[in-house]
Amino acid sequence: MKKNIILMGPPGAGKGTLAKQLKDALHLVHISTGDMFRDAIKAQTELGKLAQSYIDHGDLVPDEVTIGLVKERLSQKDCEAGFLLDGFPRTLPQAEALSEIAKSISREIDVVVNLDCDVDELVRRISGRRVCKNCGAPYHVITMKPKVEGVCDLCGGPLYQRKDDNEDALKVRLTHYEEETKPLLDYYQKLGLLASFNSLVGKENLFDEVSSFLKK
Ligand code: AMP
Repeated sequence: MKKNIILMGPPGAGKGTLAKQLKDALHLVHISTGDMFRDAIKAQTELGKLAQSYIDHGDLVPDEVTIGLVKERLSQKDCEAGFLLDGFPRTLPQAEALSEIAKSISREIDVVVNLDCDVDELVRRISGRRVCKNCGAPYHVITMKPKVEGVCDLCGGPLYQRKDDNEDALKVRLTHYEEETKPLLDYYQKLGLLASFNSLVGKENLFDEVSSFLKK
């Protein structure tokens, strides 16, 4: 089984939803840098204060900050069981740093799962996305409605729209993806680690395809 995994794909491709399904099914640690930053913003830590303006505008948090955060998290004992990196790396310096970190703690990357999705669908998904403030569970105003409007099915927490899920921030996020993150697909292809999946097949089919691939 492949257990040290990077999930890649543009914003809205379904990385977070898939990561939550895989984490439960395969007992892996889910490491989402976006969630870590949002938690830090909620707690108003120094990290949160620094990250907030970058995130609100759709910009990337500086590499040295993000790399330090991931290095610390990956070194923790629970990651021995295997981990899913969701939203990291997003730049070439992050990918290079990750290779070094993974080597130094003997937790090398087994595979990079890339989710393909066309831009119209990304915009549709992101503009209708709602997230639980408590547990982070994802919803959509049309395709993934909660049982009670505005309330999380899982924990009863309130649903909200992320500040960076607006049209302006999304444009910036997609540009960062095209210019800084997409080139990493080549980087991982050359290392023989890349496996791509079409995320338009629906979340249950995607989960079945990816989880059976990871179990091989
Ligand atoms: P996400 O939840 O993955 O969409 O991330 C939300 C935001 O957090 C991004 O738009 C960035 O501002 C920031 N962020 C998350 N991961 C990274 C990363 N690896 N490098 C830089 N910024 C990041």
